[in-house]
Amino acid sequence: MARIADLLAAGTTYSFEFFPPKNEAGWLSLGRTIAELEHLAPHYVSVTYGAGGSTRTRTADLVSWVKRQTPISPMAHLTGQGHTRAEIRDILIDYRAEGVENILALGGDPPADGSAHAVSEYQFSSELVDDVREFGGFSIGVAAHPELHPRSPDRDSDRRHLAAKLVRADFAITQFFFEVDHYLALVDDLSSHGCDKPVVPGIMPVTNLAQVSRMAHMSGAEVPGWLVERVAKAGDDPDEASRIGVEIASELCARLLEAGAPGLHFYTLNRSGPTRDLWANLGLDRAQP
Ligand code: FAD
Repeated sequence: MARIADLLAAGTTYSFEFFPPKNEAGWLSLGRTIAELEHLAPHYVSVTYGAGGSTRTRTADLVSWVKRQTPISPMAHLTGQGHTRAEIRDILIDYRAEGVENILALGGDPPADGSAHAVSEYQFSSELVDDVREFGGFSIGVAAHPELHPRSPDRDSDRRHLAAKLVRADFAITQFFFEVDHYLALVDDLSSHGCDKPVVPGIMPVTNLAQVSRMAHMSGAEVPGWLVERVAKAGDDPDEASRIGVEIASELCARLLEAGAPGLHFYTLNRSGPTRDLWANLGLDRAQP
């Protein structure tokens, strides 16, 4: 069984996210990371896609590599912005030929310099969801932002558009967040919009406060003061900071599972250590065959 919709229907899923490396050294390092994580038997792994198609080939290469060289099911991220419908169709044809069964359909972002993509036949992720659905054969995920998408003018429109795309997809994976209440509020809001599809929390252990604060700022997430204070207790010791970050993430995961989250998706940043520690803290070694 490799379709994520089926995996979620069968029980709690645990999954990892990787990004396609830029150079030879990055590929070697990711190869080691995957070797170190493979035995944990995640239900699937996902591979990110560069805005506007900048990693089109590298994402496809990594997805194919996972499919061919490991027993794990891959999910390919795909963004609409910066693509024509014909390009998206070509990408889907290749994934279907490779036997890939899962697509995370994303809106994507305009270029960072504020310009527009040269060609783009997509504005919102829902248009991509519709095209992937019409193409057929893929289990489709979408992105959710518990603390609202940074471009959303208000909570109601954020939730309305999210519910509208999620009812046409199979599941959502969230941006990372640090307060369990953000997740619970998101699920409640979706339910009040008539959407009860599985929403899998995205988990980011804070191993480097400056890096995570930058990413949080870009994605509209808040790094709470209590978290900064706790990690700061490590002083200049990066190993202790990482240990505390993993401890905080483990507490969040435990509370999310207790609250009924249908799975956990770990942002690995292509490193194995924090994910392995989280796995052990949650006792998943015993839960997985
Ligand atoms: P959309 O669903 O299109 O939403 C974007 C904004 O438009 C929101 O404010 C929404 O409310 C609004 N909106 C939606 N529909 C409408 C409508 N019909 N009318 C008016 N407004 C509307 N980015 C990458 O480039 N590559 C990746 O691999 C990647 N992976 C990600 C994985 C996860 C789990 C998450 C949470 C995000 C990921 N992103 C990735 C980031 C994502 O592409 C950006 O957040 C992007 O800005 C929006 O994507 P979206 O799919 O949420 O877009």
